[in-house]
Amino acid sequence: MAFFQTPPELGNTFDDDRMLRSYLARKLPGDARAPIERELREAGAISGGPLYRRSLVEGRDEPKLVPWDAWGHRVDRIELSPLWREAQKIAAERGVVGAAYERKFGEWSRVLQFSLVYVLEPSWHVYSCPLAMTDGAARTLVASGNAALVERALPRLTSRDPEKAWTSGQWMTERTGGSDVAISETIARPDGDKFRLYGTKWFSSATTSQMALTLARPEGNPPGGSGLALFYLEVADNNVFVNRLKDKLGTRMVPTAELTLDGTLAVPVMGLRDGIKHISPMLTTTRTWNAVCAAAGMHRALTLAADYAKKRVQFGSALAEKPLHVDTLGWCVAETWGAFLLAYRAVELIGKEEARTLTEEDASLLRLLVPIAKLTTGKQGVAVASEALEAFGGAGYIEDTGLPRMLRDAQVLPIWEGTTNVLSLDVLRVLARGGSLEPLAREIARCAASTKDASLRGAMETATRALEHAGQWILAHAGDKSTVEQGARRFALTLGRATELALLCEHAQWALDHEKDARFAAAARTLARTVIDQIQDVPFEDARALLD
Ligand SMILES: Cc1cc2nc3c(=O)[nH]c(=O)nc-3n(C[C@H](O)[C@H](O)[C@H](O)COP(=O)(O)OP(=O)(O)OC[C@H]3O[C@@H](n4cnc5c(N)ncnc54)[C@H](O)[C@@H]3O)c2cc1C
Repeated sequence: MAFFQTPPELGNTFDDDRMLRSYLARKLPGDARAPIERELREAGAISGGPLYRRSLVEGRDEPKLVPWDAWGHRVDRIELSPLWREAQKIAAERGVVGAAYERKFGEWSRVLQFSLVYVLEPSWHVYSCPLAMTDGAARTLVASGNAALVERALPRLTSRDPEKAWTSGQWMTERTGGSDVAISETIARPDGDKFRLYGTKWFSSATTSQMALTLARPEGNPPGGSGLALFYLEVADNNVFVNRLKDKLGTRMVPTAELTLDGTLAVPVMGLRDGIKHISPMLTTTRTWNAVCAAAGMHRALTLAADYAKKRVQFGSALAEKPLHVDTLGWCVAETWGAFLLAYRAVELIGKEEARTLTEEDASLLRLLVPIAKLTTGKQGVAVASEALEAFGGAGYIEDTGLPRMLRDAQVLPIWEGTTNVLSLDVLRVLARGGSLEPLAREIARCAASTKDASLRGAMETATRALEHAGQWILAHAGDKSTVEQGARRFALTLGRATELALLCEHAQWALDHEKDARFAAAARTLARTVIDQIQDVPFEDARALLD
């Protein structure tokens, strides 16, 4: 009875990341590469070392709500986990939000910033959540042109000083709904040149933040989305009451709360109408974070599973020698690298937009890519986390291995910041507002033009054909709103998976040419063997019948 299984281990999470390093080598201009890699290597040492070890030990150290002090005063204090307090410090000092706004590397600043997110995220218990909203709030304030608010909040939201740095909440969801926020019930009553807000916010994930952006309906405004305004508020001593913390499946270190606003002083960010429209930079940002974090989580789950496969011996040899196990993990790699490239394509374009080097064509591509990347990678994140857990057998189901958390945390990716269905409908809305599939067709054609190797031809054709099929389908049903709506998820996932495959072929060609590395080509072929084209006409009566 002397056997003890060696657990999986992590190294430097930057150095060990084949995809990220190859991508940076391909994309970054010469003078930016060394300093960016240096920062990521430092972050990778923290993430794969002390932070990862703490995340295993402190996995049950959840936030606590202290509603009253010893003398009966209502305090609504939330005590964060020690790991989260450490994450706050690391995030500020390393510029995990700030690097994007410092623009030290021009249009590549976003690649640096999101790579910091990607390297650190799986080791700090979803601290990305408040950071994503902080980044989103900063971008929204900048886009609003509200100089007073920019002057007050931006230096704090982007600060590298942990003592000065702020985070921001995004309070949109109410009991009425998170998808259909147009029916929100919070009202705003004028109070001098400010407003006082009254209502309940049903999900607030960054409750310990210093500020929030939120939606409320100024009294007298009409119902519906256009009658909502976007407000800025600071949380301390401002009639914000924490009703309770949510008891969640995952993201358990994130203090998600239900709040009552009872006369909370707030300032309109941009007029007194069209709040949903004005908060859209926030959503573009948080959805991109979601996609990058999905790829990061997949990569972490896979890295641990691959390491374990070398150590775990069953039926006479390591799992890494078993053809079926290798086949299973190979699929995980292909999904992960596809997700990475799709998420990073959105990141690149956001970087260009902020550096004002974005072309009109790129801008229309970005509008489509963000919802597509969020919804596609969210689904992949859950599937790969689930498969990776299974790759550990029973150990994958046991809490103190730290493994089950990966699946629970992944399950939020397709839900918050817009569910898969809601984002699929968003893709249709982009098309209806004068968009077309042309930007994606150009993107896939660009990838096809650079993919020359015969071993990649079939995979590239699969991507091209899937996009063409999606285009034919949407055209054929142009006048049939309900058929298009019913098929929107299959349509959007086809666009996402086809784009991933094309980007993977493009990268594979580059890696063959410049790194003599055939692994990305193998990944592209593997991805091409999965279901890329999901377009189908499913009779509505069939679905209906199943629910009756
Ligand atoms: C851990 C966590 C943290 C969160 N943090 C925050 C936060 O900080 N701030 C915040 O504002 N919100 C937050 N949310 C809320 C989150 O954004 C919403 O839960 C999400 O947007 C979905 O809204 P809902 O819960 O109202 O679901 P619903 O809108 O009721 O959706 C239910 C189902 O119906 C589907 N559906 C909805 N509309 C349609 C349609 N038209 N056609 C087809 N299908 C449809 C959805 O896809 C989903 O499957 C958080 C949620 C979670 C789980």
